[in-house]
Order: sequence, then C-alpha cells, then structure tokens
Amino acid sequence: MTEHLYLHFPFCTGRCAYCAFVSGPPPRDIPAVIGALLREKETRGIPLLPLETLYCGGGTPALIGPEGFRRLAGSGLFTLRDGAEWTVELHPAAVTPELADTLAGLGVNRLSLGVQSFDDATLLRCNRRHTAAMALEAVRICRERIPDTGIDLIAALPGVTSTEWERTLETALALALPHISVYTLSVEEGSHWHRQGMEPPEPDAACDAMLTAADRLRRAGYERYETSNFAQPGFRCRHNLNTWHGGDYLGLGRGACSRLGRTRTDGTGHAEILDAVDDALERVLTGLRLSEGFSPERVVAAYPVLAPWRDRWEACLGTFRRQGLLDARNAPTDRGYEVLDALVRELLSRPE
Ligand code: SF4
Repeated sequence: MTEHLYLHFPFCTGRCAYCAFVSGPPPRDIPAVIGALLREKETRGIPLLPLETLYCGGGTPALIGPEGFRRLAGSGLFTLRDGAEWTVELHPAAVTPELADTLAGLGVNRLSLGVQSFDDATLLRCNRRHTAAMALEAVRICRERIPDTGIDLIAALPGVTSTEWERTLETALALALPHISVYTLSVEEGSHWHRQGMEPPEPDAACDAMLTAADRLRRAGYERYETSNFAQPGFRCRHNLNTWHGGDYLGLGRGACSRLGRTRTDGTGHAEILDAVDDALERVLTGLRLSEGFSPERVVAAYPVLAPWRDRWEACLGTFRRQGLLDARNAPTDRGYEVLDALVRELLSRPE
C-alpha cells in the first residue's frame, strides 16, 4: 500500500545523444497506453491510497497530449488527496498553451522542463530537438499556468567551455524559477555517445562545473537539498523526497521502478526481495544524498537491525567531517557531494 505513484511514459520523438533510458516512438493509440497502466496496476495488486504525490516522467509524457491526460485523470487509476503534488516532466518542444491549460485544469501543480542547456550549438550536439528560444518560450507558457515550474540542466556536456556554462546558469537564474536540477553528464551504455566511444567528462571538469553551479545557485537563494537538486525555500520535490527518505512508492509503465516493503522492482520488471539488513541500509543511505544530515543515533532507533554499524559510522563520519566532506550535521558539503558515491560505499561496507 502506498500513497506515492510514478507513471512512466516511455515515448520520445527522437533520441538524445547521451540517453540510454527505455523509450520508443510516440504512441499511436493513447487509450491503449492508459489501458496498459490500468492493467499493470491490477496485475501488480498493490492498493493505492489517495495519493500524496504523483509523478509523470519519461520519456516524454506530453506525447499522450491533452486528451491523453484527460483520459488518465478520468481513468480511475488514482485519486489525489487534498494538497497532493502532481508533477509532469515536459520536453520544451512538446509544450503548447493548450497542453499547459489542460494540465493546470486537471490539477497538475508542478512541472519539470528538460532544458539541459541554453546554448543552441550544445543542444544540437545533444540532439535535443529544441533550441534555447523554444525552451524559454516553454518556460513562459508553463509558468503562466503553473507557477511551480522548474528546469533540468546538464553540467559538463562535451565542448561546453566554462564561459558557456556560466552563461547557461545566468540565463537560468534570470528566470528566478522555484526549482533547478543540475545533473552531471554520464555517458551511459546504450547511448549514442557511448556507441561512438565518447569518454565521460574529466572528473575535474565535471567537479568544477557542479561547484560553479552550486555556488551560483546558492548565492541566488537556492537550497541544495539533494545532490542534483536546488530549490527556493518551500519548493522541494515532495515525490523525490519520499524516495530519498526511503519511503515506498509504486511505479507503473515500461521502465518504472518500485519500492514496496522489502520488494525492489527495477525498470525491467525484475523484482528482488531484500533481507532486513539490506532493506534498511538501502533506505537509510539514500538519505545521505540529502542536505538534512545523517544521524546514526536516529537511524539505529528507526532500524535496530543496523545497530552493529553504529560505531563504524561514527568513526567514518568523523573522518569525513575532518576532511571537509560533511558539515557538522553530517550533510555533504559541495566538495562532499562530488565524492558522494565513495562516501556511501565506505559507509555501506559491513562492520567486522
Ligand atoms: S533524454 Fe529524455 S527526451 Fe531525450 S531521449 Fe532520453 S528520455 Fe527521451
């Protein structure tokens, strides 16, 4: 049973050069898409409470169009409780006033636009299928209807100089959006760039680009509340926060993951039942991505099965703090975020 639902719409009009996500061409039969989600929910047999958060991600959810969203909302797949957060990811080229009107009318109250860069040459290299001007127009259309509109950017894209990256950040900051996500480029297996043999960005370049972003965004009043996520106060993504807090959620649609009790289902539908220790470790350590800090005492109180880790954690955390990688609350500093995977690996290793 859960009150957090992720719906995956695995459709795109083309393939971005860095992308290895599950996605195919735009759907021809929208009712069939909604029908498949309904059947999947029934087959999975997971009761849904009135939702606290709903996240429609992709792919490009907008490819089901205004009519698709109307059908989705009227399908009985979910109900929303009062004050629920409903987020839809949008590709700038798919944004129209009609779509934004429809989403706002249905109760969507949070939009996330995949902008990635405000540099046209970079967008072309990435095969993003939109320009900077189209992204700015999409932001304008969305914000008029749904003020909680944010954007995603990608740091350390190939060929982007530090001056160009600063320009993209300045353009983003001038929009004064409530939420900005900044991801570091990774060249995933299965992507066009991976097939071409492109190397991942130099760690120093990626680190510099992220540190620049973190610095600019913080100075503009954004809180870095997670590795890649920056928000003005009051605009954190509640759906993702539930996941990082180790909460349950159901994912429906080809490529969606779920976490329900001790069962973790990956994007291929493969389900795995974790033992009590692995379940607790996974739930707790995703919290390290957050700016809220990590308290071994609180963790052990919530998950007594992790008591054997406590001394080891206290020792590791002390070392990380002395190295300037964690602050006094054991939240990552900007430098700590750059080596977060290594910190988590160290904390995950089993006590003797
Ligand atoms: S990055 Fe997004 S829009 Fe681009 S191909 Fe991947 S899923 Fe589609």
